[in-house]
Amino acid sequence: MKKIFFTSIITLLLVFFTSINSYGQCGLLDVDLIIDEISDLQDSLVTNFPNICKKVVIGTSVSGYDLVALKFSDNVNTDESEPEILLTACIHGDEMNPEQVMMKLARRLCVDYSSDAATANLINTREIWIIAVMNPDGLRGINFWNRPNANGVDLNRNYGYMWNKEDFDPYEYSEPETKAVRNFILSRNFNVMIDYHSGLQGIIYPWYYKTDHAPDHPEILHLANNYDTQSGYPVGEFAVSSGADLYVTNGSLVEFAYGSLGIQAFSVELMEFNNPQFNSCQLFTMNKPAIFGMCQKAGEGITGIVTDQVTGQPIKAKISIQGRLPSYSSHVNGDYHRFFINGTYTVTASANGYSTETATVIVTNGGVTQHDFQLTPNNNNSAQKILTCRNYSNTNDPAETWNTLGMNDGNYYAIGDTGYVVLDMGFSVLDISGDDITIHGDASGNGNEYELFHSNSIDGPWVSLGTGSTTTSYDLAGVNNARYFRVEDNGVGAGNVLGAGFHLDAITAGELNVGIGNAIVSNDISVYPNPTINVINFEGDDIQKMKTVSLFDISGKLLLQQNFTNKLDISSFHTGIYFVQLNSENSIVTFKIIKND
Ligand SMILES: [Zn+2]
Repeated sequence: MKKIFFTSIITLLLVFFTSINSYGQCGLLDVDLIIDEISDLQDSLVTNFPNICKKVVIGTSVSGYDLVALKFSDNVNTDESEPEILLTACIHGDEMNPEQVMMKLARRLCVDYSSDAATANLINTREIWIIAVMNPDGLRGINFWNRPNANGVDLNRNYGYMWNKEDFDPYEYSEPETKAVRNFILSRNFNVMIDYHSGLQGIIYPWYYKTDHAPDHPEILHLANNYDTQSGYPVGEFAVSSGADLYVTNGSLVEFAYGSLGIQAFSVELMEFNNPQFNSCQLFTMNKPAIFGMCQKAGEGITGIVTDQVTGQPIKAKISIQGRLPSYSSHVNGDYHRFFINGTYTVTASANGYSTETATVIVTNGGVTQHDFQLTPNNNNSAQKILTCRNYSNTNDPAETWNTLGMNDGNYYAIGDTGYVVLDMGFSVLDISGDDITIHGDASGNGNEYELFHSNSIDGPWVSLGTGSTTTSYDLAGVNNARYFRVEDNGVGAGNVLGAGFHLDAITAGELNVGIGNAIVSNDISVYPNPTINVINFEGDDIQKMKTVSLFDISGKLLLQQNFTNKLDISSFHTGIYFVQLNSENSIVTFKIIKND
């Protein structure tokens, strides 16, 4: 009892001493923390500020150290319809100060919440996540060189969007640290991200693998310039530049976040190695206004909620905005957020099993325009995300990877000579009678063949479904289901030319809404969680009237029927899409549900 009391006093001192502003923004306890102290501070923030700070262990390093993400928001245990910002650091263990700046920010967000209006406003209207140490092995000096992880791999060359084997990694996403951060980002809906480094001084934006402007260049440049203006760096010392203009790199974290998910992502280089002008407190003080500015901007532009027009349930949809990379709405609330400067934009929402809806949205600088989408169920199902692409340094192709997403439309991505892609369908395609999956190629073919593989994991193992050269359908015979598909070019043809490799337009899957009768739908019934893993719950005024509950598979086959209760256990069924039908004396309510693993 005494010991606990004593320990908590020490912890309180550690946290609260920093609120005495005797030394800039950092407080009296402005010392750099070693990695064990970073862990202690993370735990003490969660203990002392449980309403606004939450800790999630997202994975472990090669040497078994936890990878920790902290969330800062009001109602911190609830996923709300708020813009999400990700701040990451220490992917390179040898770089001075990025993790120190992140932990100073973490501490100030907690301590200042009750006293500073700007901090409270951000916490109340945003979800801010910080991964202060992405490479604990490197920071602990486990490898002889601290930059890589314990396997000696530079983690910032190991991500899968335009990975090109620039380091000692055998293949993209080979490292546990990379997989963990990737999976965490895929599980959330970040719309802005900054990855902190040190060694140069500047804000760096995509592309990193080629010198072309990214499709989102107007917005990315605006945000980068805003960071430059709001950071306290002496004028002229803080450069704004594209990654490839500095030097070309493949397989970076920022490129994955932007290329695969449309996150407006940057890296910030805090200071030069050979000329360390600033200590961590000065760096934090200079960068804090720019970080707050970026969090503010994350909520400006276009926002909205995507729901099922029939059930009102939220939908994880692909949001495409004229000429920009697609981004995604949240599967929890259906909310999407995207920064835009003033202008008139065409916004399109699409999702598997739903119609595509388009709207015109007008944005004014500094404002936010809301447009909600209600999508109608239909039979369109196609690949939703491109998780891996390798195009072997082809500098003569626009490499429009996003053309592989959505239904076949004649727009394609040339996957490169011996190049490959991994696409996420967003749901498990089931093996039903006949062909289950179709690869849509460019009609001209260009003589490029491919081999198609499937798996239920992003990282394989991959099982071949056969080869093809133009549009071809395949039967998932022998497996229940598959969610990820890998298309590899056969390596015949020229390499560094426009249109090299197989031309992939789309991957589409069979019909989903078969055999479900007309439903009379109530507004007073909701289903949660959806997607689910084991159990779905029914709630609302109308559930008292219900007599039976039935479960159908996507072909309309009845799987079970029982007396209605307010829970349905589907743990014994495999992953995929199902229909749940509730019957009362005089009405039928049908919901589509997704079972995940
Ligand atoms: Zn670095």
